[in-house]
Amino acid sequence: MNGLMMDFPLTITSVMDYAKKVYPNVEIVSVTSDNPRHRYTYKDAFKRVNQLSNALAALGLQQGDRVATLAWNDYRHFELYYSVSCSGYVCHTINPRLFSEQIEFIVNHAEDQYLFTDPMFVPVIEGLIEKLPTLKGVIVLTSEEHMPSSDKLDLICYENFIAGHSEEFNYPQLEENNASSLCYTSGTTGNPKGVLYSHRSTVLHGLGSGAPNAFNISNREVVMPIVPMFHVNAWSLPYTCALSGSKIVFPGNKMADGPTLTSLINDEGVTFSAGVPTVWLALYNYLKAEGIAVPTLERCIVGGSACPLSLINAFRDDLDVNLQTAWGLTETSPLGSIFTLKPELDNASEEELDKLKVKQGLPIFGVDSKIVDFEGNELPWDGTSFGQLKVRGPWVAKAYYNMEKTDAHEEDGWFDTGDIVTYDKHGYMQITDRSKDLIKSGGEWISSIELENLAVDHPEIAEAAAIGYEHEKWGERPMIFAVRKEGSTVSAEELIASYQGKIAKWCIPDIVEFVDELPHTATGKLDKKVLRQKLSV
Ligand code: AMP
Repeated sequence: MNGLMMDFPLTITSVMDYAKKVYPNVEIVSVTSDNPRHRYTYKDAFKRVNQLSNALAALGLQQGDRVATLAWNDYRHFELYYSVSCSGYVCHTINPRLFSEQIEFIVNHAEDQYLFTDPMFVPVIEGLIEKLPTLKGVIVLTSEEHMPSSDKLDLICYENFIAGHSEEFNYPQLEENNASSLCYTSGTTGNPKGVLYSHRSTVLHGLGSGAPNAFNISNREVVMPIVPMFHVNAWSLPYTCALSGSKIVFPGNKMADGPTLTSLINDEGVTFSAGVPTVWLALYNYLKAEGIAVPTLERCIVGGSACPLSLINAFRDDLDVNLQTAWGLTETSPLGSIFTLKPELDNASEEELDKLKVKQGLPIFGVDSKIVDFEGNELPWDGTSFGQLKVRGPWVAKAYYNMEKTDAHEEDGWFDTGDIVTYDKHGYMQITDRSKDLIKSGGEWISSIELENLAVDHPEIAEAAAIGYEHEKWGERPMIFAVRKEGSTVSAEELIASYQGKIAKWCIPDIVEFVDELPHTATGKLDKKVLRQKLSV
């Protein structure tokens, strides 16, 4: 017997309608290329969203067509998020930090028809335009007086594009499984793969990630998404905020700029923010150096890569801010797990708490998780068994966009995250490595992440990457590429000695190579492929 409840589709349009009706006067504040502090309300935003929808409809786009963005976090990008998806097109957010060959690949693979870009990326498009046959127009996210010139492109000004169009729009009745947005994972191997989100997955993820045991976002929060809107929908915050009625503060391209972030936090009363570890390190260093406090800021989510305990504790002790670790992937929309303290651990010692805080947290409802060994046998959550993390759920990808072989979804219905993890008996997950980064020495596995964490625990090391090098006797042995802190003269022997007593002897790296900087991918992760190539030449 079926239930007798309404079959009401979960669409982004319903999120927009809700925010428009219930929170019309809540503000959206932005830093943009043409305005250091733009502000308006949800009501104003959705009027312009309607104007944009009318302008897009006039282009003759068909349902499901891809419309691309190459843009920072600001109100115009927010308008595109809603207008494109609610009109029934697919909002394809492109990471401007990708190499131009990758941008070329994904625009062509997605067959994007129009591209909305921040002015600073116009030269990137100019360099590629001859190789982008599907693109029919480039719209620049600015006003007439700030328009860049171009001899190669027939640029359209965004403000002119929407001007004169009606502030009313009749949105199509979409089905909840219709595609809403597209983001390519910039994996370190092979071509990028497209993750195609649906309206349903986006709304469910927005609700799930805003819940109390996750981001805990209510209409009391002032949210500053530093995590970029070009990567996994800024961890869904533009939707979560609208369905929670919270004020949004968009930092534009000033994502790692201490003075701008600080004044946004203090002027706008930011309570909650989210970003990758490097953002928090930069902000912390700036606040410490200048002796500035951020009294309204309560919580910051840190994810994308592991965050050192020293930074989590520095945020607590010096800024009175709870830096909370979260984990996820492009394929999981992204939120899969987050650190919150279970009441049963209220009496845990400081030392136990330190161990918990650096883990990747508790799974949230909506992302079912299991660990399996390399033969596929499920492993217990006992804190020591480690294996491949597999997940499934309504906001987990089952296939990649337009690929013959869909290697997102395994035959057993689980998605292999590529992370090697343990779960402790309380349900806290800890990544020990990416499966492709594990080092196998003499038949035993060594976690590259553990070696990196121990290296940066050394007071004179700024960043480290561990990889396995080929070894005649042991198959592989671990080595470290390390960046010294400014002014440090720490030697390889001293760094190697600092591992003594902290891990098993055979796990201690044999070689340390100091470098000025380490290679990173477009999403800020260590690019170990480049380091391996360096070894093989
Ligand atoms: P992406 O799809 O580019 O967002 O990358 C997802 C991968 O980033 C995951 O599979 C993890 O390996 C890594 N990652 C995400 N969050 C964390 C975290 N909190 N700690 C360590 N690694 C993380």
